[in-house]
Amino acid sequence: MGIRLGCIADDFTGATDLANNLVRAGMRVVQLIDVPPAGAAPAVDADGVVIALKSRTVPAADAVAASLRALARLRSMGAEQVYFKYCSTFDSTPAGNIGPVTEALMDALGTDFTVATPAFPDNGRTVFKGHLFVGDVLLGDSGMRHHPLTPMTDSNLVSVLGAQTTRAVGLIDHTVVAGGAEAIRARIDALREDGVGIAVVDAVSNDDLLRLGAAVRGLPLVTAGSGLAIGLPANWGFEPSPAAAQLPPPGGHRAIVSGSVSVATNGQVLRYLNSGRPAFRVDPLRVAAGEDVAGQALAFAASHLDDGPVLVYSTEPADTVRSVQGRLGAAEAGELVERTLARVAQGLVERGVRRLVVAGGETSGAVVQALGVTGLRIGPQIDPGVPWCAATLPDGDTLHITLKSGNFGGPDFFTSAFALLDEEAA
Ligand code: ADP
Repeated sequence: MGIRLGCIADDFTGATDLANNLVRAGMRVVQLIDVPPAGAAPAVDADGVVIALKSRTVPAADAVAASLRALARLRSMGAEQVYFKYCSTFDSTPAGNIGPVTEALMDALGTDFTVATPAFPDNGRTVFKGHLFVGDVLLGDSGMRHHPLTPMTDSNLVSVLGAQTTRAVGLIDHTVVAGGAEAIRARIDALREDGVGIAVVDAVSNDDLLRLGAAVRGLPLVTAGSGLAIGLPANWGFEPSPAAAQLPPPGGHRAIVSGSVSVATNGQVLRYLNSGRPAFRVDPLRVAAGEDVAGQALAFAASHLDDGPVLVYSTEPADTVRSVQGRLGAAEAGELVERTLARVAQGLVERGVRRLVVAGGETSGAVVQALGVTGLRIGPQIDPGVPWCAATLPDGDTLHITLKSGNFGGPDFFTSAFALLDEEAA
């Protein structure tokens, strides 16, 4: 049997967030990293597949092309409904990419109507009267106003989306959503009659998303943040169940690779260092000076792997990072560190690590690429938005891996991650 839900996410960590929500609502989900090359269609045993693209800030034509390629693969896997996932702060510009991608997917699917809602109340993203709130403030008054690539100054999503698409954009407002799935469907019919192609939908609570989820049953395409995912699996009879998050039994050595420089990760690394466990610091200046820092890290790790998790980290507080960036250049420093940590991760896996925590969004991308990982089965959630995953290595072995972006995870994330895996195995 084919998959039920096929998802296209416009960035990597957003894809994991979506996959995680679907698993929690009872679907077994596989996340693919980029579109598998033609002819290499992996046989996926899952209810939902999320293809992670990097299409949020690329030129609109490239985003459209990548999304259509993803759509074709999802349809070949049997997807009955397609979910285009974007950021819960609706990151985009008048040039796109949310509007153009939505429109292209509608054309390819031959559908004249879809919904749009970035609402994710659990993360403080709500939509009311078409206006997006980030926590307690309107989007346009939030920090997103100053985003370097996608500054969001208008909070009215009907006008934001209207500027990006030739389709008429309408609104399904909160009074309708509160009335339940039937009321939403009636409104969809009315909007369709009026020639509206895309309806922004209000949602201020999980109940709103559940009602919307039921109402969009059978729509060929939905577009949303990751919030709407909580309301879709039930349409196929899925119910929350630990079985959906089941991974193969874990084994092998344990390690943590951290290239994240965010505040939360700094706290997690400090907590780990204070516990006295083995850790190796990667100093970008020594890498830049030509030292084989990855080799040193691996030699250190090899002598400690038998005793439990080993941490290899470049994580430093912001002022230290700034001074390194000042000497090496920000992009160069980032690339240098990413390359080093990716080599370390590769070496760790060669030395028998099969349970790996990676901290940092960019770092995760580099590690996953170096390991040749193309797909992840999504497992149990460690902390909100961060699940354990199982990847198949190129040699066929299973690697348990979790990819934690910047500010995610509690202070004890590194130890609680391994504890959860032990619990699951028990
Ligand atoms: P986060 O999710 O916290 O933003 P990322 O991995 O996405 O983490 O980004 C962190 C960036 O900073 C990466 O490019 C990484 O290589 C770089 N970096 C990590 N450690 C250092 C350091 N000590 N000095 C300078 N740059 C660093």
